[in-house]
Amino acid sequence: MAKKIGILGGGQLAKMLCDSANKNGYESMILDPSEDSCGKHSATEHLVKSYDDKDALKVLCDYSDVITYEFENVPSDAIDFIQEQKANIPQGKQPLYISQHRIREKTAVLALGIQTASFLEVTNKETLIKAIEQLKFPCILKTCSGGYDGKGQWKIETQEELEQVDIKTGNYILEKMIDFDKEVSCLVVRSTNKDVVCFPIGENIHKNGILSMTIVPARIDTYLEQIIQEIAKNIITSLEFVGSLGIEFFIKGDDIYFNEMAPRPHNTAHYTLDACDYSQFDLHIKSILGEDLPTPQLLSPVVMLNILGQDKEKVKNLVNDKMTKVHLYKKTEWKQDRKMGHINYLGEDLEKLIQLAEGF
Ligand code: ADP
Ligand code: MG
Repeated sequence: MAKKIGILGGGQLAKMLCDSANKNGYESMILDPSEDSCGKHSATEHLVKSYDDKDALKVLCDYSDVITYEFENVPSDAIDFIQEQKANIPQGKQPLYISQHRIREKTAVLALGIQTASFLEVTNKETLIKAIEQLKFPCILKTCSGGYDGKGQWKIETQEELEQVDIKTGNYILEKMIDFDKEVSCLVVRSTNKDVVCFPIGENIHKNGILSMTIVPARIDTYLEQIIQEIAKNIITSLEFVGSLGIEFFIKGDDIYFNEMAPRPHNTAHYTLDACDYSQFDLHIKSILGEDLPTPQLLSPVVMLNILGQDKEKVKNLVNDKMTKVHLYKKTEWKQDRKMGHINYLGEDLEKLIQLAEGF
């Protein structure tokens, strides 16, 4: 009988997990409240129900040999219910609990002796002003939870900008801005059998807070690449997470700062779909099934470029060929800044690939 994978969430990450499951002869069911969720194009089954719908969760539990999630903000009650049903959700709640909250995740990582930007907790304008006095300009204020693609963030570089920040009482983190040389990320995977492997480091270029491009190999010294992979393995092993974990770092000189992590496949590792012998989705599935993890190999230099809603017209001219791999997520609405797909440009000359991506 084909193995059955249950997925909480039905976005593009679920879609690509289902594509990988299909390739391996597995079946899949996604649970997502939206009728339109793009994962439905690749999933065997689609439950259009909310994450707190007990009947739907029960159906997912009965169907699945293993259950996973594709986003960090899965309600913890849903995981509790799945665990009460004695269904197999090997990642559990802990990775979500830690990564859903920026202070919790930085505190957990600092405890492992890994550096982060200096930070302070902020709850209102008054504590913000005090925190700025301590950390000094320039700083960046972020909501502790729920932010993504640069949303829920305020750069505060001057007294005027501080005065303009208008925040409600809530949970925020104020971070010292790091004048980094490069932003990089590492996708690390840990199997329930305790195997741990890392994909090559990606160098990330963000535009307006949204990931635009990932360049692999990252243009950093090999020893830094090795240290970052060791840090990533240390984090996933020490925190005893299972599944995939995308970790973002800043590099300044020889200093490496942890920025944030997400316990799921990660946009910055979409390049693995075409440039590696195993994709992040392949290894995510292997890891939750408790299989041995092969060390993934980079087969070609690659530049991954995100396709956003505003790129609708440009996509019409794209040709998928041996060296240009176009992935569209089949989302219906092309909205500004919405991630609609990505392109993996493969080839020997990395600088040429970057130019190609820039010219898109
Ligand atoms: P998101 O969840 O939106 O990806 P991040 O914490 O990764 O949130 O912040 C988005 C981007 O903002 C980062 O990729 C980086 O370019 C910039 N940024 C965030 N924190 C800092 C910092 N402490 N110093 C410098 N730049 C930062
Ligand atoms: Mg980020």
